[in-house]
Amino acid sequence: MSIKENLSSILSTLPKTVTLVAVSKTKPIPDLQQVYDEGQRIFGENRVQEMTEKWEKMPKDIEWHMIGHLQRNKVKYMAEYVSLIHGVDSPRLLAEINKQAEKHNRIISCLLQVHIAEEDTKFGFDEEELLALVENEEFKTYKHVKIVGLMGMATFTEDMSQVRREFKGLKSLYTKLENNYPNFTTLSMGMSGDYKIAIEEGSTMVRIGSSIFGTRN
Ligand SMILES: *Cc1c(COP(=O)(O)O)cnc(C)c1O
Repeated sequence: MSIKENLSSILSTLPKTVTLVAVSKTKPIPDLQQVYDEGQRIFGENRVQEMTEKWEKMPKDIEWHMIGHLQRNKVKYMAEYVSLIHGVDSPRLLAEINKQAEKHNRIISCLLQVHIAEEDTKFGFDEEELLALVENEEFKTYKHVKIVGLMGMATFTEDMSQVRREFKGLKSLYTKLENNYPNFTTLSMGMSGDYKIAIEEGSTMVRIGSSIFGTRN
């Protein structure tokens, strides 16, 4: 199937309440342009330099989402334009985003990444750290970041009952926080291999790459 066919078949299965992030990392501009021409306006990238090059070349009505692990010294290169940062996984990173957003007089929306997988290679907060952060007095003074929800990645496994269990855990944490944080709108969970389960478990934003653009090298 072509990229366009992949996109429309995915879009036809997504409930209206779920937002699609087209994950275009490693893919060339003409591939992104095809998806753009079909009306897709949200793209996800996991490297700041690559995202910035694409931002410069592509139409300016695209929302660029940083979905990857982010180093603090890279935040400055995208603070001017990034629309949502999914992988905020430390208080120091959040402080840096706030600082760089202030320079551009912006408020950058962020998701806190929660560690739900059993692999310890996946980044993120555990529940206790997360609660400590949102209650932190210094964090409450930050005027240039807005925490709009949570993001998580399930374990890379064939065992779909485990994946479902991990998504359920994230959703229940989200529900707990949502009551106290009116800015919460977004639960980012689900990729090509597991987005259907993620949606069943309450995802509001799926990050899909290879099922749209084909496998990556
Ligand atoms: C690459 C990536 C995706 C998309 O993965 P696919 O399996 O290609 O859909 C989603 N989320 C994150 C954080 C990624 O790095």
